[in-house]
Amino acid sequence: MIRIYNSLTKKIEDFIPIKENEVSMYVCGPTVYDSMHIGNSRPVIFFDTVARFFRYLGYKLTYVSNYTDIDDKIIARAKRDNLTEEEVSERYIGEINETIRQLNCLPFSKTPRVTESISEIIDFIGKIVNCGGAYVVAGDVYFDIEQVKDYGILSGQTVDNLISGARIDFNEKKKNPLDFNLWKRTTEGKRWPSPWSAGRPGWHTECVVMIQNIFKGKIDIHGGGNDLKFPHHDNEIAQSICLHNHAIANYWMHNGMIDFSGEKMSKSLGNYIAAKDLLAKISYPVYRLMILNVPYRQPLAFKEELLQQAENDYQKIYRSYIGIYRALELSEQNIKSVSSGEIEQLKEDFLSAMKDDFNTANALTVIHQLVKIANTLVRNGDEQLGYLKRVLLLMAEMLWVFGIEIDVSPLTAEDKLTVKAYYQAKKAKNYRLSDQLRDIIMAKGIII
Ligand SMILES: [Zn+2]
Repeated sequence: MIRIYNSLTKKIEDFIPIKENEVSMYVCGPTVYDSMHIGNSRPVIFFDTVARFFRYLGYKLTYVSNYTDIDDKIIARAKRDNLTEEEVSERYIGEINETIRQLNCLPFSKTPRVTESISEIIDFIGKIVNCGGAYVVAGDVYFDIEQVKDYGILSGQTVDNLISGARIDFNEKKKNPLDFNLWKRTTEGKRWPSPWSAGRPGWHTECVVMIQNIFKGKIDIHGGGNDLKFPHHDNEIAQSICLHNHAIANYWMHNGMIDFSGEKMSKSLGNYIAAKDLLAKISYPVYRLMILNVPYRQPLAFKEELLQQAENDYQKIYRSYIGIYRALELSEQNIKSVSSGEIEQLKEDFLSAMKDDFNTANALTVIHQLVKIANTLVRNGDEQLGYLKRVLLLMAEMLWVFGIEIDVSPLTAEDKLTVKAYYQAKKAKNYRLSDQLRDIIMAKGIII
């Protein structure tokens, strides 16, 4: 049984999907006006790992993430760069997609865009207005939070606390300072006709409509960063309760933020590193291990040591994997996989860690234990090749869940002879010959 920390109930709960063996999951995607920064790459990597784990267990998964392609920030960027809003959003959707691909994330099932969902958004807002959940002031439509019981259920705060503590915009058109825009009358940027004014939708209404469009009802998991809990997710829930009488998803999951020198990493603070810039320096497996090494609900303090740790971890795993691969390859036999209690226990441990609210940090410890077993087996030589084969397959499975796929090029017949000769020379302590052979191997770029 998978257990998930549900931000809605603030409890660890058994995961029971709405439809047996199927999972529906939605994670809020980026507003596309700039490059993805490493803070925003955490939910991308983490929820990709969640998606992979569900697929690994055989669930039929529908995983959706949106693009907010109309927003004040996009309009501002378009003005600054002398581009149209479409040009800005196309550019960053392309760039962000490329970063997600480089991080070796599986493709989403769907990536809806706000600008392609405008008529459904207008319909949805119209229904809320009709049932008295929203009011119109001078062409703007505001959601009336007093029409829903338990407003702020996700952030777990009272309305009074939210009013005093939140960064909300006070404006005399609103009945309550927490009321939020469903439709905004605009004179600037792209706008669409509506029964209320020419304008565009408010951010909080977009996701709830796109979820309804695609899934036609309640979903299993809604995810995002902790910073989206309030107001974004509480406002999504308020609209859904108002119209559909449910909280959109049975399980709400939130990842912790990435801190940078003790501050939250964000574009507005200007203290961010773009994911693509970090990817230019480190490989994607190192990047993923850096993120997955910290339990997802905890804050992640980004620092050099964390990168170094991930680099060391990956080197150990990679060398071990190549070592097993070559040992099997050089044996020139058709090795049958043989298992042992010890190896299968590690598989169980890995599954238990992942089923325990996706504890990737503990699951990584299990991968390291498997690496140790593998290294001993490789040293022990030929008689244990059957076990090695099982270890190789299991390691590949675990790494796949982590989004890491190691590609090894098979040796040519000639290279096999050289590598074998190298190992023999080493065994016979003929270091002069083994050094020579090693130089040849390295010059050819062969990894052993
Ligand atoms: Zn959202």
